[in-house]
Amino acid sequence: MECIFCKIVDNTLPSRKIYEDDDNVAILDINPASPGHVLVIPKKHKMDIFDIEGLDLRRTIEVVKLIAEKLKKELNTPNMNIIQNNGRIAGQIVDHLHIHVVPRFPNDNIDFRIPRYEMGQDQFYEIQKKLNINSKLPDPPTPSPKTETEEKK
Ligand SMILES: [Zn+2]
Repeated sequence: MECIFCKIVDNTLPSRKIYEDDDNVAILDINPASPGHVLVIPKKHKMDIFDIEGLDLRRTIEVVKLIAEKLKKELNTPNMNIIQNNGRIAGQIVDHLHIHVVPRFPNDNIDFRIPRYEMGQDQFYEIQKKLNINSKLPDPPTPSPKTETEEKK
């Protein structure tokens, strides 16, 4: 078994566990972003959000909540980032699903802010139409003045 988180789960690799139940463990991240950076890991080897079953994920999220409450109380901060990466492009390094709980402190120089992408009304409409699961769609956008000018040529 090559997965380092599976080895941590079965104690063949040492770790700093702070919580364990039948389904999940929580450990201190060995390369923390801040003091108190915790990883919550389901015991079953599930690669990512697409691999884990809903009920198992709910149990994992409940542990995330428990850990967040503990960090808030013991480290005196209500500021926290909760992050879960899927795939290399998204920054996943270990192919065993895990959720980062990162307590934040004043002037900690961590920047998890999400960069923003400029998107026009047409693209918003197309994306919303493609991704829509069960919401009422808006009317399609009216053509922009630029498009009308180009059509007249
Ligand atoms: Zn694993």
